[in-house]
Amino acid sequence: MSQKYDRVYNFSPGPANLPESVLEQVRDEMMNYKGSGVSIMEISHRAYPFDEIMVNVKSRVRQLLGLGEDYAVLFLQGGASTQFSMLPMNLQLPGKSVDLVHTGHWTQMALDQLKKGFEHRVVASGEKDGFKRLPELSARHLTSDASYVHMCSNNTIYGTQWKTFPDTGKVPLVCDMSSDIMSRRLDFSRFDVIFAGAQKNLGPSGVCLVVIKQELAERASDKLPTMLQYRTHIKNDSRFNTPPAFGIYVMGLVLDWIVKQGGLDAMEKQNNEKAKVLYDAIDSSSFYESPLHKPDRSLMNVVFRIKPDSKDSEKLEESFIKEAKVAGLTELKGHRVIGGLRASIYNAHPLSGVQALAQFMREFERKNG
Ligand SMILES: *Cc1c(COP(=O)(O)O)cnc(C)c1O
Repeated sequence: MSQKYDRVYNFSPGPANLPESVLEQVRDEMMNYKGSGVSIMEISHRAYPFDEIMVNVKSRVRQLLGLGEDYAVLFLQGGASTQFSMLPMNLQLPGKSVDLVHTGHWTQMALDQLKKGFEHRVVASGEKDGFKRLPELSARHLTSDASYVHMCSNNTIYGTQWKTFPDTGKVPLVCDMSSDIMSRRLDFSRFDVIFAGAQKNLGPSGVCLVVIKQELAERASDKLPTMLQYRTHIKNDSRFNTPPAFGIYVMGLVLDWIVKQGGLDAMEKQNNEKAKVLYDAIDSSSFYESPLHKPDRSLMNVVFRIKPDSKDSEKLEESFIKEAKVAGLTELKGHRVIGGLRASIYNAHPLSGVQALAQFMREFERKNG
């Protein structure tokens, strides 16, 4: 990536790339944060300068998503995975189902938690298509008085991504945006809860961003464990207990970086351009193949195979991964449940990285095609 540090082009699905300028700033501020004489990891989370960091990061989230004070911005622990249980615990209304749109591994994880005694309905599913395409979905699939609808905007493992979202009317729309948050412009006011583990597009692991309509948090019984009520974290500005302060600090720097790049419009433009380089390389060859329904392909996780119908397919993919690594292109192995290859190219992945990969793909095909 940069000659300066001898870094590689990292295609890791998560934890993933951070902008180099952010890593440099973290390094520069590590020993003495803005003249405080200590690092950000060694101070109270209830006083200046951490207060200032909290104010900035929350306002950046609202600014970039175009949301107002009717949404709470929370920084929680337990990853996106804890949200799969916190959501139904807090938002399920008696006798009213949770509508789940099933599009792969991460909605399966949400479904597994719903099965622990929460009324639910799978209203659309891509399972019969091996999650290679998104299921048909419109208002008529949904329960008119459901507790909420759960969706995942980008399916990190299968490589599909929703381009549009259904009108859920009065039913709250909850979306797992772990792997595409801040990557494109959407009308975010159509969502009632947006959550995202930070380690793909926002910062280091250990913090989960949750943006929730304030009034929704009032649905929860106060008999729930205090730490598992959204209300607790809203009242205490995510500082009921010690928050993941370092992660919140880095997230603030990443959001500052996005704003400097030109905000979500600029991110979306770059992400389209980056994905196009790889999809063009795949589509223009008979050696590589995308297993996915074209309109559903993700801009974040580019999933592909080498000659999937040939008996040499797996061997070729193995050598591809090995040789790519030698060439400084790492983490290209597909997820173990589907195999093949996957290039994850989140916001912080540079265009030069996808260009280098496309070039490598052409050379590998020339030698092995
Ligand atoms: C990575 C990922 C998760 C899991 O996040 P954790 O923070 O590890 O719990 C959930 N949903 C999606 C879409 C993901 O990509």
